Amino acid sequence: MPTAAMEVDKGDQEMVAGASGVESKAPVRSKGVSADDDREAFSPDLLRIYYARLFPYEQMYRWLGYSNMPASLPDSSGKPQPVDEQADFFSKREFSFTIEDDVYIRYQCFADQKEFEQQVQRKQPHKIDIGAIFTLPPKNHLAVKPGAFQPVERELVFDIDLTDYDDVRTCCSGAKICNRCWSYMTMAVEVMDVGLRQDFGFKHILWVYSGRRGVHCWVADDAARALTNEGRGAVADYFGVVAGNDNQSKKVNVSLPIHPSLRRAYETLEPLFLEHIITEEGQGLLSDPSHWGKLLATVPEDVRQTLEGRWKMGGSSPADKWEELVEEMEKKGRKQQQLAKKMKPADRPPTPEQWRYEVVFEHTYPRLDVNVSKGRNHLLKSPFAVHPKTGRVCVPIDPAHVREFDPFTVPTLGQLQRQIDKYDKEHGEETKSVSSINKTEMKKYVQQFEDTFLTGLYKGIRVKKRDRTERIAAVTTDF
Ligand SMILES: [Zn+2]
Repeated sequence: MPTAAMEVDKGDQEMVAGASGVESKAPVRSKGVSADDDREAFSPDLLRIYYARLFPYEQMYRWLGYSNMPASLPDSSGKPQPVDEQADFFSKREFSFTIEDDVYIRYQCFADQKEFEQQVQRKQPHKIDIGAIFTLPPKNHLAVKPGAFQPVERELVFDIDLTDYDDVRTCCSGAKICNRCWSYMTMAVEVMDVGLRQDFGFKHILWVYSGRRGVHCWVADDAARALTNEGRGAVADYFGVVAGNDNQSKKVNVSLPIHPSLRRAYETLEPLFLEHIITEEGQGLLSDPSHWGKLLATVPEDVRQTLEGRWKMGGSSPADKWEELVEEMEKKGRKQQQLAKKMKPADRPPTPEQWRYEVVFEHTYPRLDVNVSKGRNHLLKSPFAVHPKTGRVCVPIDPAHVREFDPFTVPTLGQLQRQIDKYDKEHGEETKSVSSINKTEMKKYVQQFEDTFLTGLYKGIRVKKRDRTERIAAVTTDF
């Protein structure tokens, strides 16, 4: 039901508006936010400059309008219907704004790029969320019979947040993040991106920094946009390797023979586990007795005792310890094999191979907030929106270079403003012909959005348009 029950990105926004679209909450936010360098990162004035000079409306409009090519065109059995080039596909898209003092406005929609621009500049949203494309412009949702207002398509989205790693990350917790724990996000992007491309055949995938402590993924292929809620759930569950909640002691259960996609993920993740999880410079899983105690609790008692005794003496590196652990588990496994044959399959202890997969996945495999993926109605923060708590822009992340991405170098509104000032000071009169985007780091991120996402998307749209024209021509000739 596309009414009041729709959800928004958790953590960033706990408020859900009623059917009227507007509700308010007591103001809690201070006027300005400072970044690490103690200079202003976010304020209503900086936001005004950002929306007036830096937000890439044109690129966002081109993306979300899909050149008015809906994901599901009439199939080849039916008569192909020409899609009106002037169709208002973009205008049926829901946007929601969180404006000053946490007033949350749903069911915003805009006829075109110009109106989008005007309304953003008029309302100065502190947060912009994007929802589904509906049967009619969302602002008219109350003017029709219940049931007539339905979501028709929506990108397949994923939300990965560092707070879901709190039971394994040792450096920070809650909203706090650092470069050490950011590696969980790097690992998640690498595994998900390959899985979505190789196992599902998706091509048009956009990764975005959420502005604070996570990443978002938007899959814009036709097949993804046309997915039902059930289909979305199935894709999310496919990646649901790490199960459950904090109270669950064992979060990963791998059965053998292992699925090829999990074997592939393991090959990516084990080296990263060795680099970022077990080391002292990483999460310290095998460099600190208090952490390795937790890991040793997952192995048989005699193995635990042997290794605990040995490791107390010191002298071995985390990588040595991992090797010893695997070796001891394999030794144990060989002994157990004979015994296990006599046991019922359900009673057999996990094999050393299973144990190894499970440990590595528990610490590295992507943890999705599946509810965000499952509903076409679920709102998700817009790329290039700004996180009001950090002042950072939700910039795209190139999955091919995700290891180089550092959330702490993502520009804040304050930094962007200073970049414009610096450019103008250095270049004097000639700056008038240069767009503000090109005076700042936004240039790099907007270019990347074009190169890694929009260009490919529009190549696909051109092919689809040509096919459609040919089909229409073929039908016309038949008569
Ligand atoms: Zn951390």
